[in-house]
Amino acid sequence: MMRLPEFSYLAPVSVGDAVKLMADHGPKAMFVAGGTDLYPNMKRRQFEPTVLVGLRGIRDMIGVRGSSGTGLTIGAGTTLTAVASHAEIASNYAGLATAAGLVSSPQLRNMGTLGGNVCVDTRCNYYNQSYEWRKAVNFCMKKDGDICLVAPGSSRCWAVSSSDTAPMLWSLGAQVRLVGPSGERIIPISALYRDDGIQYLSRQPGEILTDIVLPSSEGWRSIYLKLRRRGSFDFPILGVAVALRIDGGTVRGAAITLGAVASQPRPAPEAAALLVGQRLTPELIDLVADAAFKPGKPLDNTDLTHPYRKKMIRVFVARALHSLAHGQPSLAHGQPTLAHGQPTLAHGQPSLAYGQPADRQVEDK
Ligand SMILES: Cc1cc2nc3c(=O)[nH]c(=O)nc-3n(C[C@H](O)[C@H](O)[C@H](O)COP(=O)(O)OP(=O)(O)OC[C@H]3O[C@@H](n4cnc5c(N)ncnc54)[C@H](O)[C@@H]3O)c2cc1C
Ligand code: SF4
Repeated sequence: MMRLPEFSYLAPVSVGDAVKLMADHGPKAMFVAGGTDLYPNMKRRQFEPTVLVGLRGIRDMIGVRGSSGTGLTIGAGTTLTAVASHAEIASNYAGLATAAGLVSSPQLRNMGTLGGNVCVDTRCNYYNQSYEWRKAVNFCMKKDGDICLVAPGSSRCWAVSSSDTAPMLWSLGAQVRLVGPSGERIIPISALYRDDGIQYLSRQPGEILTDIVLPSSEGWRSIYLKLRRRGSFDFPILGVAVALRIDGGTVRGAAITLGAVASQPRPAPEAAALLVGQRLTPELIDLVADAAFKPGKPLDNTDLTHPYRKKMIRVFVARALHSLAHGQPSLAHGQPTLAHGQPTLAHGQPSLAYGQPADRQVEDK
């Protein structure tokens, strides 16, 4: 049985206090929200903080403010369950409700937060293992070792961005608010991520992610499809997040972002550009699915084979676009685990979300 190492838990009740506590304790401290990713990682000694600054007691970081007409602000401490079941998110940013509702299991979604999901560690078959397992293979450069076991000649780590909500937030044009010792900044979520399995966030260690800011949803629809082996709680091995603005049957704005194919969410702007100014015909959908296939380059370091995961990009992008074209109910909370089956409709959540990306990939003004 793996046990947590000893640590001190500090429980600030304001963002300012949390920033100060983190600054006081330096590199030996980490933030913890729901702990659903950090605690298992600590048990495996992937992180060894001696101080945890808990964010659960900061009320200002919990809840949803604003409206879909002008834009929503979601506190980073809001649980995934609350995001998935929030009426305005479910009807106007449905892809996000779907993505949040497909993270792990109900118990973990009750504890896990949206902010924690945005910041969740990258994953790799050679890293998400016990200390003893990692020691037996002489460790790797993400923790305790020197080389990459997936690509031994590589000077970088290729661990995979495995957040469900990150690609959807990227397609929706979300921004994030970060508060640290030198003040506050708001950046597009695309600028939060770096293509590096170790330093995968541009967030400074002392900065708290306090809010996720969504632009107005007017005219937009969105959908998130997830590929995984077991529907009950597996991480994504492919996520496809699409947002479209459709006006009179013609696509006026489009964003396609792939999850779990690189160390950061991977946008497919060339594929999105093919949609703008066009009607969603089956021929166009095939063309776009082919184009979206190109930027996804999964490696052999997560579940199932990487050629299969690559092939499924085309299939899932086409499915997502067909769903949006037909205004079908979302595949939320009950999607197929593997590609063989047809998408199943679970809780009947509407799939048409409207999330106007602030830094959207392609738009016809
Ligand atoms: C069995 C299992 C299955 C899982 N399946 C999935 C899945 O399918 N999809 C998926 O996306 N995730 C999955 N997860 C991972 C995890 O449950 C979720 O990503 C969850 O949303 C993490 O949120 P949290 O609040 O628990 O984060 P924590 O574990 O508290 O933190 C995660 C990381 O984010 C940092 N952090 C958290 N909040 C903030 C903040 N506000 N500001 C700055 N840094 C912060 C922490 O320091 C830590 O590095 C799974 C985990 C387990 C154990
Ligand atoms: S990609 Fe390489 S360095 Fe990164 S976690 Fe996997 S084996 Fe380690």
